[in-house]
Amino acid sequence: MTADLVVVGSGLFGLTIAERAANDLGLRVALIDRRDHIGGNAYSENDPTTGIEVHKYGAHLFHTSNERVWEYVNRFTTFTNYVHKVYTSHKGEVYPMPVNLGTINQFFRSAYSPTEARALIAEQAAELGDKVPENFVEKGISLIGRPLYEAFIKHYTAKQWQTDPEQLEASIISRLPVRYTYDNRYFSDTHEGLPTDGYAAWLERMADHPLIDVRLGTDFFDTGQEINRENVRGSVPVVYTGPVDRYFDYSEGELGWRTIDLEAEVLPIEDFQGTSVMNYPDEDVPFTRIHEFRHFHPERNYTKDATIIMREYSRFAHRDDEPYYPINTDADRDGLLKYRDQAKAEPNVLFGGRLGTYKYLDMHMAIGSALSMFDNKIRPHFAEGAALESGGVSE
Ligand code: FAD
Ligand code: UDP
Repeated sequence: MTADLVVVGSGLFGLTIAERAANDLGLRVALIDRRDHIGGNAYSENDPTTGIEVHKYGAHLFHTSNERVWEYVNRFTTFTNYVHKVYTSHKGEVYPMPVNLGTINQFFRSAYSPTEARALIAEQAAELGDKVPENFVEKGISLIGRPLYEAFIKHYTAKQWQTDPEQLEASIISRLPVRYTYDNRYFSDTHEGLPTDGYAAWLERMADHPLIDVRLGTDFFDTGQEINRENVRGSVPVVYTGPVDRYFDYSEGELGWRTIDLEAEVLPIEDFQGTSVMNYPDEDVPFTRIHEFRHFHPERNYTKDATIIMREYSRFAHRDDEPYYPINTDADRDGLLKYRDQAKAEPNVLFGGRLGTYKYLDMHMAIGSALSMFDNKIRPHFAEGAALESGGVSE
């Protein structure tokens, strides 16, 4: 094998490392992935019946306020001016999400000003007293009060996580902004958009370099493959972006993950729901949301004869499922600390990405963290001869 660096996993973390190593350092990179395509969960393909671009692993919206990441991704693709907005269908009525002045006034059948709405929510959140919110429920109630929490968050979160919300981290609900204006943008970042000619074209451009040898359908743990954990261990530097518990053969137990099942349906109509994402926060609806992919690209001339929708169902991931969302209970955090110690002792292997660090990372965070690993570990090793120290699973 003639690689200077093995990158396991061709998601945005692995792609960024491979691209920088080849382009900036002239290294020969073996980029392996067990799937039959590159790009990890950001991958998309055009539905053969309708020609509509479908995000194969769930809807992916690119957004960032990190200028370095924005400059970097624009080397491989331009972005449309799509701005993500989400609606939520509660008890037969549709509200804007995330919670904003429009949601509050519609829910309470009122016409509160921003100041009045703030006062109302503060009064409803007062049940917490002086307690600093420590978990998901407390944080949720502190942000929007109990009535809105119970309508829009409680059952949606029960369906999404099937975990006692007191065990969930407050940071999960903090991902959603709460606004006392009628601004119902889902994200608050400086830059936002979708890759103009699709995710697959963007991701393939990142890997398109003569020094990058892409090997698909290759599992790093399959000893029948030319490149595998056993024959590169300790000899060729590895950046590993698969699940950290799998790397260590689950020796400290399995870390908890959620996966999603996506149920696609082609309908013989032009428009099913009039928007790209509709959430379903009620208990009696089994799915969490419906995506309608045509609305991600209003600038494209998609067929008017059909549309494709996807219902999203969430459940616990077993070993053979795709791990998507780290659950991060107290037990998971204990297990992760033990894996971090093992990772520190693993020779010449750096752990990165969402699966390798057991962290919910958005695309821009995965790219930003890969650029930092390149600057701080990979370049010093190859350009200056510094030891390749993992420092454990990066924080
Ligand atoms: P991944 O994309 O998961 O890539 C890891 C790769 O490693 C995979 O291709 C896998 O096949 C491969 N691999 C694993 N084990 C092995 C092995 N043993 N051998 C070989 N290959 C292996 N981010 C946003 O910014 N906006 C969004 O709207 C958004 N929506 C999301 C929706 C869902 C449902 C999910 C799950 C994620 C979403 N994300 C979103 C996050 C985004 O997908 C991640 O930031 C991104 O995928 C992280 O890239 P990664 O390289 O760390 O991991
Ligand atoms: N959430 C909710 N109701 C909604 C949207 C989100 O309860 O209508 C909660 C849910 O727990 C979710 C979290 O807020 O996991 C973060 O939402 P986000 O849209 O970021 O979830 P993701 O895109 O990661 O699935």
